[in-house]
Amino acid sequence: MATRKTQSLVRPLVRSLHAYVPGEQPKIKGLIKLNTNENPYPPSPKVLAAVKAAVDGRLRLYPNPSAQLLREKLAKLHRCKPENIFVGNGSDECLALAVRTFVEARSAERGARKDSRCVVQYFTPSYSLYPVLADTHGASKNAVPLKADFGLPTVAELKRGQQWDFNAALAFVTTPNAPSGRGYTRAELEVLCEAQRGVMILDEAYVDFADENALPLALKYPHVIVSRTFSKAYSLCFQRVGYFVGDADLIAALDKMRDSYNVNGLGQIAAVATLGDLHYYHANFRKVIGTREVLTCELAELGFTVLPSQTNFILARPPKFPARVWLQKLRDQKVLVRWFSAPEVSDYLRITIGTDAEAAALVTAVKQIISRA
Ligand SMILES: *Cc1c(COP(=O)(O)O)cnc(C)c1O
Repeated sequence: MATRKTQSLVRPLVRSLHAYVPGEQPKIKGLIKLNTNENPYPPSPKVLAAVKAAVDGRLRLYPNPSAQLLREKLAKLHRCKPENIFVGNGSDECLALAVRTFVEARSAERGARKDSRCVVQYFTPSYSLYPVLADTHGASKNAVPLKADFGLPTVAELKRGQQWDFNAALAFVTTPNAPSGRGYTRAELEVLCEAQRGVMILDEAYVDFADENALPLALKYPHVIVSRTFSKAYSLCFQRVGYFVGDADLIAALDKMRDSYNVNGLGQIAAVATLGDLHYYHANFRKVIGTREVLTCELAELGFTVLPSQTNFILARPPKFPARVWLQKLRDQKVLVRWFSAPEVSDYLRITIGTDAEAAALVTAVKQIISRA
């Protein structure tokens, strides 16, 4: 246990920090795990073979320090140059490095919370890691509410509201949004990007399940970066590989801030093999989207208010009991979903789209709970 004495060895900023809380990874037999937006389908057989083939005496060697081959393949896929690609230990690492690269920490001279150079800006609700990244860096946070339907406010609305900082050093937009699942059009994102003067990161962690993506904006506007990950759509959470696409100067700046070997060797191999078998994944996206549409209808018939989703999860407001009570009741039936205490979403459950069988098990559990109510 930490004593007062050891606590004094820790920086005050760190002492008062609230760390990010990841979804649980329980090892309960038979549990249906719909809480962390993992893909229900395994990586492609080619990816598994490539990783297995790489597990030998070569593990003693350092991996390529700049994930060169992976960046070349990604550049080809996105029709840009390897200099436009930054790879990280999951996109979470990329996002953290962006804060450290583009945002000033508050200091005695830059003490004012409103100094745009120190501001990390994002909409609420969105990815709950952003405020943690701002806090760990000692930056200011500017959290601006989305519209009541989780839509993106227009630039005119943001100007009228006077809360959004068009000069913020860094602004994050989760698109499609999490945890609402709502998608945004490239056109509306472009208008916001054009009005924004600081660095703008479009976090497209779920974009493979959406109708539209905003990647062209990262290649058109030097201050716009698109963030992607192999975790969700490419069934590779375990390997931790994510990346940015953006202006070569911004990418070079990020490159100076990262650890020399930030992307592990097996992760690089798995990601390269993934890009070599994209057809396999495209079929999975279609399956997940199909399950999502069926589950949305079935839950709606059972009295849930289900928001239309462009992701591999749905946000659903359950009937009869508070969402928090549903979380426990479903857990008692061995179905694990996610509930967030933030007031804008505390009436909802976030449910990851699993296989058809997992969705059917969820629906069965829901029917049981309702019949006993
Ligand atoms: C899951 C997620 C990430 C991070 O994924 P990594 O596994 O770190 O690549 C980033 N942004 C959002 C919105 C996410 O949901």
